[in-house]
Amino acid sequence: MKYSHTLLILIILLLTLAVVNAEEPPYMLVRVDVEAEMQVIPLLRMGLDIVDGVKGEYVELVCHPEEYTQILAQGYAAEILIEDMEQFYADRAATDDMGGYHTWSEAIDEIYQIHLDHPDITTEPFSIGQTIEGREMYVIKISDNPEIDEDEGEAFFNALIHAREPIGVELALGLVNHLTDQYGSDPYITDLVDNREIFVLPVFNVDGYVYNETTNPSGGGMWRKNRRDNGGGIYGVDLNRNFSFDWGYNNIGSSPSPGSATYRGTGPFSEPETENVRQFCNEHNFAINLNIHSYSNLMMYAWSGPHRGFTPEDALFAAISTTMIQWNGYPFGTGWQVLYEMNGEANDWMYGEQSEKPRILSWLFEVGSSFWPAPSQIPGLVAENLQPCLYLIEQAQYHMSPRLTLTPYNPPIQIPAAGGSFDFNIASAYIGAEPVTVNLWIDVTLPSGTVFGPLLGPAQLTMPSGFTFDRDRTQDVPGNAPEGTYIYSVHAGIYPDINWHTASFEFEKLSTGDGEGASSWWNYVDALDEFSGDTIGMASPQASALPAGHEIMGNYPNPFNPLTVISFELRVSSLVKLSIYDITGRLVVELVNGWRDAGAYEVNFDGSALVSGIYIAKLIHGSNTSTAKLVLMK
Ligand SMILES: [Zn+2]
Repeated sequence: MKYSHTLLILIILLLTLAVVNAEEPPYMLVRVDVEAEMQVIPLLRMGLDIVDGVKGEYVELVCHPEEYTQILAQGYAAEILIEDMEQFYADRAATDDMGGYHTWSEAIDEIYQIHLDHPDITTEPFSIGQTIEGREMYVIKISDNPEIDEDEGEAFFNALIHAREPIGVELALGLVNHLTDQYGSDPYITDLVDNREIFVLPVFNVDGYVYNETTNPSGGGMWRKNRRDNGGGIYGVDLNRNFSFDWGYNNIGSSPSPGSATYRGTGPFSEPETENVRQFCNEHNFAINLNIHSYSNLMMYAWSGPHRGFTPEDALFAAISTTMIQWNGYPFGTGWQVLYEMNGEANDWMYGEQSEKPRILSWLFEVGSSFWPAPSQIPGLVAENLQPCLYLIEQAQYHMSPRLTLTPYNPPIQIPAAGGSFDFNIASAYIGAEPVTVNLWIDVTLPSGTVFGPLLGPAQLTMPSGFTFDRDRTQDVPGNAPEGTYIYSVHAGIYPDINWHTASFEFEKLSTGDGEGASSWWNYVDALDEFSGDTIGMASPQASALPAGHEIMGNYPNPFNPLTVISFELRVSSLVKLSIYDITGRLVVELVNGWRDAGAYEVNFDGSALVSGIYIAKLIHGSNTSTAKLVLMK
């Protein structure tokens, strides 16, 4: 009994060793010839980490020997650059001090020491949550009055989401040191610290980094993912494929296989590390984010998936990048342009998630040309990226988004068949230091998925620092609106293409009715323009018929004095008559009377000869009639 027990333990020990060995085959650096973009896709589908390359010529990637065999078996011409990367880095290291890089505890000790040396402009490092192995994820904030959330531009810097990219830790620490050391002597730095709020997470993937410290104490550890136990002796989720935006859109550059270097996890934000960063971003008002990676000397921004093309703010991303390239010389572009396709990535979530939080202008830097650059290269790599980081901090002041809230009264809202209305509150707060000019508009997503509107706006407001507003309004829902669930949304941005923040709630239309309860999508009560002299106008387009597939009519601005533009759209060519009536039903003027082709039309209306009041525009086209309420305010 005793004997067999010992034997059992021995067998378990041997099995454990076998598992450890099985998960630690050497990491090879391999160059694979790819003449066409299409040839890269099978490599991305294999879940390999492509680290560098020249488009149309070759890629350099990290793989294990088994994967290398698979690459050759698929007919690629490939060349081994480094047989065993960990051995390569170990041979180079002179000492046991992590190859000249900070360990995790050294990095955290350093930001604690910075706080002790500069208590007036830093917070004590604080944890934003724990990793899957229970370690704290520490952030330090740099600003004047660091304990107070002031109305200042906010920027977030995070490094080492991939555990084998430690140059990011050095850059993050270099940035914190520079800001605190130069405060009070360098006027530019003093201004940034006084007028921005800067948050730095120097080690995102703590467990993965500690694992590399354990396996390779002299540096060169090649572990990339976190330390999630996937079962079967397989560990790790690629945290930079675990964000919710386009998570698992396809298997190109994001893998469903737990053993792969780009394994995306079982679901969006399945990992505590990414969930902690998500919550942290949602609780703050970041205008700017930087994800620091290595390597290949590149700057990239959303989108990562070619199916999305370019963001509506691509010109802004390019302009800011054009300024930064003068310091680091890194080519820039969208992720899919400058590197390769992926999904569930942090840049895309930072910019593209616009409901949980406003959009964040986010970059990813691939620093240097090695995972573990020689210690002699560290100061140069930090220096070339310091000025770009400072410039991003500077930019935070100019790209803060107003936050919106939209709250229904007496939910859940159910609109009867004949139509009805609901009351809601709309509020906004802006904490940027510089005034921002923004459009606000309300639209509704129909049960079919079509977006209809705007039902209100676009209003143009210029919000000074600390601006807030809060208004109650009422929305009519006509009886002929189809039954189903609607999403009612308010947006802040530049109408119609650029969205910064959206707040929404749902309501239900019980069944399609005759319109006795309400006949149109009126939106009324508190005026939205009374609190800002900069409001240029509000349009309330109305649809008297079914919202989808019918002619829409509205005017802009509204209220107006004395000019307004009435617009309408014909889906089919027809005889059209557009007339203006006063509130008693008396004809004021006939603006259009004739045959018109299908298309969009705009007609000017001049109310200078009329008294203030409500006028009705009536559009008769074929057998349909649309009306809009025009408000002349002199
Ligand atoms: Zn990386």
